[in-house]
Amino acid sequence: MMRQYELVETVKQYDPSADEQAINRAYVFSMQAHGTQTRASGDPYFSHPVEVAGILTHYRLDSASIITALLHDTVEDTDATLSDIERLFGPEIAKLVDGVTKLSQLEIAGSEARQAENFRKLLLAMSEDLRVLLVKLADRLHNMRTLSHICDAGKRKRIAGETLEIYSPLAERIGMREVQEELEDLAFAQINPDARTSIMKRLDFLRTAGQSVVPRIIESLSDTLRDAGLAPDVSGREKTPYSIWRKMQRKDVEFEQLSDIMAFRVRVGLIEECYRALGAIHGAWRVSPGRFKDYISLPKPNGYRSIHTAVIGPDGHRIEIQIRTRDMHERAENGLAAHWSYKQRAGNGKGEADTPQYRWLRELLDIMEQAEGPDDFLEHTKLEMFRDQVFCFTPRGDLIALPHGATPVDFAYAVHSEVGDRCTGVKVNGRMVPLQTGLVNGDQVEVLTSKTQKPSPDWLRFVATGKARARIRRFIRIQHRHEYRELGRGILDKAFRQEQRRLTKKAIGRAVDIFQLQDEDDLFIRIGEGRLSGPEIVHKLFPPRADAAGPDRTAKPGARRKKANGAAAAETGISIRGLIPGMAVHYARCCHPLPGERIVGIVTTGKGVTVHTVECDTLQRFNSMPSHWLDLSWDDDGSAEESHVARIKVFLSNEPGTLGDLSTIIGKNGGNITNLRIAHRSVDFFEIHLDIQVDDVRHLTEIIAALRASPIITSVDRARG
Ligand code: MN
Repeated sequence: MMRQYELVETVKQYDPSADEQAINRAYVFSMQAHGTQTRASGDPYFSHPVEVAGILTHYRLDSASIITALLHDTVEDTDATLSDIERLFGPEIAKLVDGVTKLSQLEIAGSEARQAENFRKLLLAMSEDLRVLLVKLADRLHNMRTLSHICDAGKRKRIAGETLEIYSPLAERIGMREVQEELEDLAFAQINPDARTSIMKRLDFLRTAGQSVVPRIIESLSDTLRDAGLAPDVSGREKTPYSIWRKMQRKDVEFEQLSDIMAFRVRVGLIEECYRALGAIHGAWRVSPGRFKDYISLPKPNGYRSIHTAVIGPDGHRIEIQIRTRDMHERAENGLAAHWSYKQRAGNGKGEADTPQYRWLRELLDIMEQAEGPDDFLEHTKLEMFRDQVFCFTPRGDLIALPHGATPVDFAYAVHSEVGDRCTGVKVNGRMVPLQTGLVNGDQVEVLTSKTQKPSPDWLRFVATGKARARIRRFIRIQHRHEYRELGRGILDKAFRQEQRRLTKKAIGRAVDIFQLQDEDDLFIRIGEGRLSGPEIVHKLFPPRADAAGPDRTAKPGARRKKANGAAAAETGISIRGLIPGMAVHYARCCHPLPGERIVGIVTTGKGVTVHTVECDTLQRFNSMPSHWLDLSWDDDGSAEESHVARIKVFLSNEPGTLGDLSTIIGKNGGNITNLRIAHRSVDFFEIHLDIQVDDVRHLTEIIAALRASPIITSVDRARG
């Protein structure tokens, strides 16, 4: 185990400004917190955080990262709390430790193979500070190095599998190849020890049989390149057993058929020299077809750059060759650490004008260029890669990836269209929240559904995903069709009754034929949409006789049977008789009808029924459209259940306290002011428009009477229009 002074010395070597005292304090704090805890190996638990810190010194990370490594298991595994950490080490360290703790807890939530990619993204997204991820990777590396001490074979396999699916690809993604390869090899040894052993045996055999083939090929490659006027560094090595294994699986080939067990690397100074080296190699040996890749002009997503090729090289060996600049090499090998040295190099004015192709990499470099020092660099480093996504869990632990800004409704539709359609409410992390709540990474979302629930057009205001939007729109379209159909049926029925005729199946069938329509639904929808008029159809079917004195618009009282459509009331929650089932109902804003008043409905295309008082001036506009009128009346009993808004106009003396008096009078009489607008203000009086919630017209009359009785009020009236 690394000792306290060794750790501090190592950090000081690469970062003289490191906070020595804080590292010492963290060392002691962690040692005391973990106390007598032991690892599966029997070592004191404390050896683990120290080793993790040691791994990070290899990458020359700042003292905050080293301190975080020392403390990374204290909050989860000891009595220490996050506030202890914050008090003793400050908010930055507390935030980092909290980040690592959260990642460790996620690990427990479970990861199925198919979820691996999402899970990796989740880890990245949650590691807002890159250092959190680095500490986590070092943590995993040390746990893998000591995995053999765990007795439970199933647990070892699970951890190894998780390492291959989640952590080694993450190491690769942020460019830490050494960590990636070590993680892979350690995991491979757990998951398929036989395959690993046999591959290693084959490699051993090749080594002895070939009598150090690698150095001979290196020499031969170097000569060829020097002849081309280059000064290359050439190195060669065997591939790792795991990468050979993967290649065997991927290409479904036997070990003997693998051509590229040996990989060689050519490092030169400039990009231009990479292509000259490529030319020289292809000139000297026969190219192995289909293996050429130029990652210099088109880098990999993790920023990796190199030219790859394969040739039948010296002595007829098939070999793989990577060509890159020394700068690219350093970055490919060490990822982050190389970014640091990149900064120094760029400062020397040396180096290539190579711009990283990928946003997050460019971002890292931008920050480095502006940052004062390594600490500053890491402090400002954020992983931007998956900022545009959030990752949430179902109650079963499945991961759902959603765009940033997504709501529980988006989540519900992402789970299943039906779940979205029937969503009535939602619990996030066990608590009920409004449907438009924005989701954040790691939220566990439970969607509550009901078979009778339908999508609400309101949802369109806040959903973020195309899937949810499309489903809701589709539902509204179907709903509209349904509304138009019912509306059309109602209009036609009314037109028939006005002519004292009955709307029979036969009559409908004839109308469908006359207007050359598909079926009766088509007929009703056209009427509902206003493309056909009810009276027009009646007249087509029953041309007016010569002796008739025109259409009889005033139906006889006897013919005016009470509409059986009162059922509409229950569905809409509005206690009005005469409505058409399934149609939207609005109260007119011009006249604010109240229960107890005489009302009439106006049917408008796409809007449903608007309820007006019979005195409303707006009705004049519909005089020429009798088919749009609906006879409505208030249900006698149901009116008390809902409140209605009435608008009144008050003239009030302009004296101190009169506004207060006004609201007191209304309040005492059970009215609730929902809106107040001062329409006019003079030296003597205010003209105020008030919206008041009342039960019905009688209630409003009482309030108006009470206001009139007050000396401060000059006049009160219902506002119309
Ligand atoms: Mn740990």
